[in-house]
Amino acid sequence: MSDPHVCARCAQKGPTCCQLDPGNEEFCFPLSEMERDRILKELAGDEGAFAQQANTDGFVENLHKLFPGEQQAVDKLFPGTKFHIRLAVDEQGRCRLLGPEGCRLPREARPYYCRLFPFWFAGGKLNVFAASRCLLQREARTRLRMLALVGESDKRLKELYGRLRLAWGLAPRKGLPGIDKCHRKKS
Ligand code: SF4
Repeated sequence: MSDPHVCARCAQKGPTCCQLDPGNEEFCFPLSEMERDRILKELAGDEGAFAQQANTDGFVENLHKLFPGEQQAVDKLFPGTKFHIRLAVDEQGRCRLLGPEGCRLPREARPYYCRLFPFWFAGGKLNVFAASRCLLQREARTRLRMLALVGESDKRLKELYGRLRLAWGLAPRKGLPGIDKCHRKKS
Protein backbone atom coordinates (compact mmCIF):
# COMPACT_ATOMS: atom_id res chain seq x y z
CA MET A 1 0.00 0.00 0.00
CA SER A 2 1.41 3.42 -0.87
CA ASP A 3 1.10 6.62 1.13
CA PRO A 4 2.33 9.70 -0.73
CA HIS A 5 1.60 11.75 2.41
CA VAL A 6 4.07 9.99 4.67
CA CYS A 7 6.43 13.01 4.65
CA ALA A 8 3.54 15.35 5.53
CA ARG A 9 2.59 13.05 8.42
CA CYS A 10 6.23 13.08 9.51
CA ALA A 11 6.25 16.91 9.46
CA GLN A 12 3.15 17.02 11.65
CA LYS A 13 4.94 14.90 14.26
CA GLY A 14 8.36 16.57 13.85
CA PRO A 15 11.30 16.84 13.83
CA THR A 16 11.80 15.82 10.22
CA CYS A 17 14.70 15.46 7.80
CA CYS A 18 13.90 19.08 6.83
CA GLN A 19 15.32 20.22 10.18
CA LEU A 20 19.03 20.39 10.98
CA ASP A 21 20.51 20.45 14.44
CA PRO A 22 21.33 24.16 14.99
CA GLY A 23 25.04 24.69 14.33
CA ASN A 24 25.13 22.03 11.60
CA GLU A 25 24.03 24.35 8.80
CA GLU A 26 27.34 23.92 6.98
CA PHE A 27 26.42 20.28 6.32
CA CYS A 28 23.24 21.15 4.41
CA PHE A 29 23.44 19.96 0.80
CA PRO A 30 24.26 22.57 -1.90
CA LEU A 31 21.74 23.98 -4.35
CA SER A 32 22.57 24.28 -8.02
CA GLU A 33 21.62 27.43 -9.89
CA MET A 34 18.95 25.52 -11.77
CA GLU A 35 17.36 24.21 -8.54
CA ARG A 36 17.52 27.67 -6.99
CA ASP A 37 15.87 29.24 -10.03
CA ARG A 38 13.10 26.67 -9.99
CA ILE A 39 12.37 27.42 -6.32
CA LEU A 40 12.56 31.18 -6.91
CA LYS A 41 9.90 30.87 -9.57
CA GLU A 42 7.58 29.19 -7.05
CA LEU A 43 8.33 31.88 -4.47
CA ALA A 44 7.77 34.75 -6.90
CA GLY A 45 11.38 35.86 -6.54
CA ASP A 46 11.58 35.78 -2.71
CA GLU A 47 15.27 35.15 -1.88
CA GLY A 48 14.59 34.45 1.82
CA ALA A 49 14.67 30.69 1.31
CA PHE A 50 18.41 30.73 0.51
CA ALA A 51 21.63 31.30 2.38
CA GLN A 52 25.21 31.69 1.26
CA GLN A 53 27.47 29.10 2.82
CA ALA A 54 31.27 28.81 2.86
CA ASN A 55 32.72 25.58 1.46
CA THR A 56 34.02 24.49 4.87
CA ASP A 57 36.24 21.44 5.38
CA GLY A 58 33.30 19.64 7.01
CA PHE A 59 31.01 20.37 4.09
CA VAL A 60 33.56 19.16 1.52
CA GLU A 61 34.38 16.02 3.56
CA ASN A 62 30.69 15.25 3.67
CA LEU A 63 30.50 15.47 -0.11
CA HIS A 64 33.52 13.18 -0.38
CA LYS A 65 31.51 10.60 1.54
CA LEU A 66 28.48 11.10 -0.69
CA PHE A 67 30.55 10.67 -3.85
CA PRO A 68 33.28 8.14 -3.03
CA GLY A 69 36.10 8.07 -5.58
CA GLU A 70 35.16 11.53 -6.89
CA GLN A 71 37.09 13.67 -4.45
CA GLN A 72 38.96 15.58 -7.16
CA ALA A 73 35.77 16.53 -8.98
CA VAL A 74 34.15 17.59 -5.70
CA ASP A 75 37.18 19.69 -4.69
CA LYS A 76 37.13 21.42 -8.06
CA LEU A 77 33.41 22.21 -7.79
CA PHE A 78 33.58 23.36 -4.17
CA PRO A 79 37.00 24.97 -3.52
CA GLY A 80 37.71 25.78 0.11
CA THR A 81 38.03 29.50 -0.59
CA LYS A 82 34.57 29.85 -2.13
CA PHE A 83 30.89 29.72 -1.20
CA HIS A 84 27.78 27.88 -2.35
CA ILE A 85 24.05 28.41 -1.94
CA ARG A 86 22.01 26.24 0.42
CA LEU A 87 18.51 26.34 1.88
CA ALA A 88 18.07 28.86 4.68
CA VAL A 89 16.94 27.59 8.09
CA ASP A 90 15.35 29.24 11.14
CA GLU A 91 16.80 29.35 14.69
CA GLN A 92 15.63 25.78 15.29
CA GLY A 93 17.33 24.57 12.12
CA ARG A 94 14.05 24.14 10.21
CA CYS A 95 14.14 24.76 6.47
CA ARG A 96 12.37 28.03 5.70
CA LEU A 97 10.22 26.17 3.19
CA LEU A 98 8.91 23.71 5.77
CA GLY A 99 5.28 24.24 6.70
CA PRO A 100 3.11 22.50 9.32
CA GLU A 101 2.16 19.86 6.77
CA GLY A 102 5.53 19.38 5.16
CA CYS A 103 7.32 21.09 2.30
CA ARG A 104 5.50 24.11 0.89
CA LEU A 105 6.95 23.51 -2.57
CA PRO A 106 5.29 21.27 -5.14
CA ARG A 107 7.30 18.11 -5.49
CA GLU A 108 8.63 19.02 -8.96
CA ALA A 109 10.14 22.25 -7.57
CA ARG A 110 11.93 20.68 -4.60
CA PRO A 111 15.72 20.26 -4.68
CA TYR A 112 16.84 16.92 -6.09
CA TYR A 113 18.40 15.94 -2.78
CA CYS A 114 15.06 16.47 -1.00
CA ARG A 115 13.27 14.38 -3.59
CA LEU A 116 15.75 11.55 -3.22
CA PHE A 117 16.04 11.50 0.56
CA PRO A 118 16.34 9.07 2.34
CA PHE A 119 17.53 7.22 -0.77
CA TRP A 120 20.97 7.59 -2.33
CA PHE A 121 23.17 5.80 -4.84
CA ALA A 122 26.69 4.61 -4.17
CA GLY A 123 28.60 2.31 -6.49
CA GLY A 124 25.49 2.25 -8.71
CA LYS A 125 23.44 0.67 -5.93
CA LEU A 126 20.41 2.12 -4.20
CA ASN A 127 21.07 2.73 -0.50
CA VAL A 128 19.09 4.23 2.34
CA PHE A 129 20.55 6.82 4.72
CA ALA A 130 20.04 5.74 8.32
CA ALA A 131 17.84 8.55 9.67
CA SER A 132 16.11 7.99 12.99
CA ARG A 133 13.78 10.97 12.35
CA CYS A 134 12.45 9.46 9.12
CA LEU A 135 8.90 8.20 9.56
CA LEU A 136 9.15 6.37 6.24
CA GLN A 137 11.98 4.26 7.64
CA ARG A 138 10.24 3.68 10.95
CA GLU A 139 7.04 2.53 9.26
CA ALA A 140 8.38 0.60 6.29
CA ARG A 141 11.71 -0.67 7.69
CA THR A 142 12.99 -2.40 4.52
CA ARG A 143 14.14 -0.66 1.35
CA LEU A 144 11.56 -2.44 -0.79
CA ARG A 145 8.71 -1.53 1.55
CA MET A 146 9.94 2.04 1.69
CA LEU A 147 9.91 2.28 -2.09
CA ALA A 148 6.40 0.84 -2.18
CA LEU A 149 5.13 3.21 0.51
CA VAL A 150 6.24 6.33 -1.36
CA GLY A 151 5.31 4.85 -4.76
CA GLU A 152 8.90 5.10 -6.05
CA SER A 153 11.08 2.72 -8.02
CA ASP A 154 14.79 2.07 -8.28
CA LYS A 155 14.65 3.23 -11.91
CA ARG A 156 12.94 6.56 -11.19
CA LEU A 157 15.26 7.32 -8.28
CA LYS A 158 18.28 6.51 -10.44
CA GLU A 159 17.09 9.03 -12.99
CA LEU A 160 16.62 11.61 -10.26
CA TYR A 161 20.11 10.94 -8.92
CA GLY A 162 21.49 11.37 -12.44
CA ARG A 163 19.81 14.73 -12.69
CA LEU A 164 21.20 15.80 -9.33
CA ARG A 165 24.72 14.90 -10.48
CA LEU A 166 24.36 16.97 -13.61
CA ALA A 167 22.80 19.90 -11.79
CA TRP A 168 25.62 19.90 -9.24
CA GLY A 169 28.24 19.71 -12.01
CA LEU A 170 29.35 16.09 -11.66
CA ALA A 171 29.96 13.99 -14.75
CA PRO A 172 27.31 11.48 -15.80
CA ARG A 173 27.95 7.94 -14.62
CA LYS A 174 27.46 4.70 -16.50
CA GLY A 175 23.88 3.53 -16.23
CA LEU A 176 22.62 6.99 -15.30
CA PRO A 177 20.84 9.46 -17.57
CA GLY A 178 22.96 11.56 -19.92
CA ILE A 179 22.74 15.30 -20.28
CA ASP A 180 19.86 15.38 -22.78
CA LYS A 181 17.70 13.06 -20.76
CA CYS A 182 18.56 14.77 -17.51
CA HIS A 183 17.51 18.16 -18.71
CA ARG A 184 13.94 17.02 -18.85
CA LYS A 185 12.38 18.35 -15.67
CA LYS A 186 12.64 16.16 -12.61
CA SER A 187 11.76 17.34 -9.24
S1 SF4 B 1 12.89 22.30 0.40
FE1 SF4 B 1 11.10 21.24 1.21
S2 SF4 B 1 11.70 19.06 1.25
FE2 SF4 B 1 13.59 20.28 1.06
S3 SF4 B 1 14.35 20.59 3.16
FE3 SF4 B 1 13.05 22.37 2.63
S4 SF4 B 1 10.99 21.82 3.39
FE4 SF4 B 1 12.19 19.94 3.27
